[in-house]
Amino acid sequence: MNNRNNEYDAVVVGSGPNGLTAAIRLASKKLNVLVLEAEKTIGGGTRTKELTEAGFKHDVCSAVHPTAVSSPYFNQLDLGKYGLEWIHPPYPFAHPLNNHESVVVSRSLEETATNLGIDNKAYHKLYDRFVADWGSLSEDIFGPLRVPAYPLKMARFGLSGLPSASTLSTRLFNSPRSRALFAGCAAHSILPLDKLFTSSFGIVLGASAHAVGWPIAKGGSASITDALAKLFKSLGGNIVTNKRVADIQDIPSAKAVLFDLTPQQIQKILADKLPSSYRSKLVDYRYGPGVFKIDFALSEAVPWKDKQLLKAGTLHLGESLEEIMRSEQNAWQGRHSDTPYVLLSQPSLFDPERAPEGKHTLWAYCHVPNGSERDMSQAIEQQIERYAPGFKDTIINKHTMNTSQLEVYNSNYIGGDINGGAQMIQQLFARPVLKWDPYSIPLKGYYICSSSTPPGGGVHGMCGYHAAASVLKKEFGLY
Ligand SMILES: Cc1cc2nc3c(=O)[nH]c(=O)nc-3n(C[C@H](O)[C@H](O)[C@H](O)COP(=O)(O)OP(=O)(O)OC[C@H]3O[C@@H](n4cnc5c(N)ncnc54)[C@H](O)[C@@H]3O)c2cc1C
Repeated sequence: MNNRNNEYDAVVVGSGPNGLTAAIRLASKKLNVLVLEAEKTIGGGTRTKELTEAGFKHDVCSAVHPTAVSSPYFNQLDLGKYGLEWIHPPYPFAHPLNNHESVVVSRSLEETATNLGIDNKAYHKLYDRFVADWGSLSEDIFGPLRVPAYPLKMARFGLSGLPSASTLSTRLFNSPRSRALFAGCAAHSILPLDKLFTSSFGIVLGASAHAVGWPIAKGGSASITDALAKLFKSLGGNIVTNKRVADIQDIPSAKAVLFDLTPQQIQKILADKLPSSYRSKLVDYRYGPGVFKIDFALSEAVPWKDKQLLKAGTLHLGESLEEIMRSEQNAWQGRHSDTPYVLLSQPSLFDPERAPEGKHTLWAYCHVPNGSERDMSQAIEQQIERYAPGFKDTIINKHTMNTSQLEVYNSNYIGGDINGGAQMIQQLFARPVLKWDPYSIPLKGYYICSSSTPPGGGVHGMCGYHAAASVLKKEFGLY
């Protein structure tokens, strides 16, 4: 489409998964689209790099992709044609325990429920319906607040997901194993687990393990955005790297500008061009706890006491519901935990490209207060050692990032917040502000497409998809 007054039909600022997805949707309507990326390489939270030693390929940020394989738009795009291959570990995830038998979650709901013994029926009661309905439910879950396409299924999900994770898990499950398992999933919310709607994270992530799996991308998460970028370029799109937008003047003229950025950056770029009431809402937007990240190069696989953990793509470390609750409460309230809840993945077990033969890469992080500068290496290593004695002896090298280093790495991680803003109920659907169309900024032609809009954090591209829909409708009269 030609737009005589502007250099481009649309400019997207930022090449994370949401920015690239928005760009693809716009370019697929024959619009002339440019993506500007501040860093040398594209990809935002999906880059893969040799952080520790030559030959060890680490996912710098995202590593495990239940949301990508659930994404209604990614599933339409045939990204396999552009080089993306998913690898499904035998078990999507697992929860090591010392005082009780560890829990492994397999693709089979039946097998997982049986493994939970006295909570077999409760597990079926919680997940059967959501796993069966996953295809239709994901269309509504990955959308903005609107009249649902499947109102009954969504109402059932809303009712089940409304309680806090601590309430739901203690009401539903009798055994400490099942409670810890549910808490490990719900704590992906990066919220205190006594907050309303934290159950919804446990339900969505737990159900997705059975419905679609928790795969890793062959070669690393960078393969996801590489595939998106190839598709975008095949549609005529253009990407410029090393181009940081600090001011509105840095953006070439375009009918629409979409920011794959978070509110704090956007209000600085657009400054007094924004209506003051909207600007102050962006200023007041709440960021959540940060993350402390470690990547390890290992001489051998993690020596788990329980060997079946070697078949799990992701592990959640935390001995009990109570320990995980304490860890998440601490991060929210500005304290650090000695026994933090740790998320961990060892992709080289399933993808030989990630490390030299016989050696391994290990990806791990824990939640810390926003802006924390504390080095959590010892605490994380100690948590792993608890379930894998001798682990420390396998470390060849490691690379760490505290919250400010994360923010330097990607300026969307304000204070180390990896989700583009806290995801408590008030800010989950109404992000960044409460509006029927949260993607449009009240300044003609400007939009937000990052994880600071619904449906929030994770690699799924759906924030970009919905933002592009708003642009197509409002600026180009296309549906
Ligand atoms: C340690 C860690 C682990 C994670 N694990 C997972 C996981 O396993 N699974 C999962 O689904 N998600 C995970 N995530 C979250 C996921 O990476 C993000 O939710 C996702 O990348 C958000 O995508 P986005 O497009 O909104 O923004 P981003 O991916 O942050 O992309 C924004 C882009 O904008 C660029 N940019 C910023 N400022 C400017 C500017 N001024 N001018 C131009 N460009 C700019 C940045 O360089 C970046 O490339 C993790 C994140 C981290 C940090």
